[in-house]
Amino acid sequence: MSFSEFDLIRTYFSHATGNRGDVLLGIGDDCALLNPPAGRCLAISIDTLVEGRHFLPEVDPAALGHKALAVNLSDLAAMGAEPAWVTLAITLPTVDEVWLRAFVDGFAQLAAAHDVQLVGGDTTRGPLSITVQVHGFVDPALALRRSGGRAGDRLFVSGTVGDAALALQRLRDNAAHGTEDACLLARLDRPTPRVALGRVLAGRANAAIDVSDGLAADLRHICEASGVGARVDLSRLPVSPAVAAACDRGDWHFALAGGDDYELLFSVGADQVDAVLAACGAAGEPVQEIGSLVDEEGIALVYPDGRVSKEIPDGFDHFRT
Ligand code: ADP
Ligand code: MG
Repeated sequence: MSFSEFDLIRTYFSHATGNRGDVLLGIGDDCALLNPPAGRCLAISIDTLVEGRHFLPEVDPAALGHKALAVNLSDLAAMGAEPAWVTLAITLPTVDEVWLRAFVDGFAQLAAAHDVQLVGGDTTRGPLSITVQVHGFVDPALALRRSGGRAGDRLFVSGTVGDAALALQRLRDNAAHGTEDACLLARLDRPTPRVALGRVLAGRANAAIDVSDGLAADLRHICEASGVGARVDLSRLPVSPAVAAACDRGDWHFALAGGDDYELLFSVGADQVDAVLAACGAAGEPVQEIGSLVDEEGIALVYPDGRVSKEIPDGFDHFRT
């Protein structure tokens, strides 16, 4: 690298984001010094994106910067936590200044939107890989766990599901163009972490998870952690027109097992449903009821023709052969 590691950090990362009052010492020393608020606990999550595994080599670097942070903010959202600080470990094959500037811009724009400060990280040379760790705050009594679901809870999901998976399929088929595809592609490249929704749900929903591996797989996580089953009414799934067309052809894979949605899937006690829907409406966060948690084990899918099946397409599993 003609850039020294130090130059690189100073040029691209030291001033990438704004300053928060609770950061006593940010980038530049051996550690960051941070001042967490009294009475709330730290919520911490980390995710790695590896080229070829999580993104295609030709991906727009600004979109990648956005997504690397978005997938982490989505985990905070799923706990009902308020984002605060982030660290970034990046491994770069070369220093491509145009690429790096775009990556940092994409990252920084989303960070600014959530008042998140980049407080440290690590920069190394090697195959392209990006690891982001976020730190947020949540009242432990209000945090949204996977394990809080109860039989009788009603089940909801935010936004729409299946778009990112359909976009990826079309990219692989080399057929991604047109306006509809631009919307789908944005869902794959620039997912929206549902941070505001998570904070609305904190203390109100019984269980929550963000949909990263596909609706069915992530619902299974809630069911297993909560010791319940679920019944999902497929005719109620919120889907875009493109995904609806796939479902109409009998291909439910995108909506149920596609992954990369970064929507929130959550369960609400029957007596809380009206309050939750009112709060989501007031916050401008669209959510859709899709079924319920039940005391019979497993996930029952109710197809639009009334057929009920417990056979579920698998979500994405990196270790599946
Ligand atoms: P050390 O050798 O003590 O680990 P480094 O030289 O790796 O320190 O990093 C120097 C400073 O720059 C540290 O504060 C570190 O957190 C920060 N830093 C390094 N890489 C990044 C990055 N990609 N993003 C944000 N901060 C970074
Ligand atoms: Mg270091």
